[in-house]
Amino acid sequence: MNIVLLGAPGAGKGTQAARIQEKYHLTHISTGDMFRANIKGGTEIGKLAKSYIDAGKLVPDGVTCEIVKDSLKKTDGGYILDGFPRNLFQAQELDKFADIDLCLNLEVDEALLLDRICGRRMCVCGASYHVSTLNGKDVCEKCGKPLYQRDDDNPQTVKARLTTYENQTAPLKDFYLAAGKLLTVDCGTKNPDEVFESVCAELGKFNK
Ligand code: AMP
Repeated sequence: MNIVLLGAPGAGKGTQAARIQEKYHLTHISTGDMFRANIKGGTEIGKLAKSYIDAGKLVPDGVTCEIVKDSLKKTDGGYILDGFPRNLFQAQELDKFADIDLCLNLEVDEALLLDRICGRRMCVCGASYHVSTLNGKDVCEKCGKPLYQRDDDNPQTVKARLTTYENQTAPLKDFYLAAGKLLTVDCGTKNPDEVFESVCAELGKFNK
């Protein structure tokens, strides 16, 4: 099963992708994680990507499609793409080098997103938290490592990321709907466990 995971910044894509990966034995491919690893490693791709990421804009399509194509070549079995494609061009390119079975769309009320992302704290192990539930703690509950805030999780960049999502990424819902591949989970006020239950129910329908 090859899945595209769609959702606004802060919709919980990373959290759900990690759970889907574990339950369905898929490879989790996150373009955001790949760019951040490149930035940390000081590579040419990282240097290029940083200015776009800091501005809340999309990294150019050429380099983005290439890193996804490369990582799919190294992948055995099914996968879940988290954060790719993010515009129509990338979706059309993806169809040239991959066989996507479905697009899982996490639908979240936009009014919740700014607070969700700006209050988000991350751990290197992949866990994420919201400051409102941490009671002042600054280490990960799962592995004890220090929590940090992503550089692009600040109000100015987040607003730009949300605009980029609305203008460029949200139209992909229609693209995958027209292809008969769109499954939508309405996240509403559900917590991550409840969202995952709905995700599994949707994926269960596909697997039948
Ligand atoms: P994410 O971790 O998915 O929120 O991505 C963080 C940032 O990386 C985004 O705001 C973009 O600047 C960049 N990025 C991630 N995926 C893509 C993509 N498919 N196309 C272009 N830029 C991307």
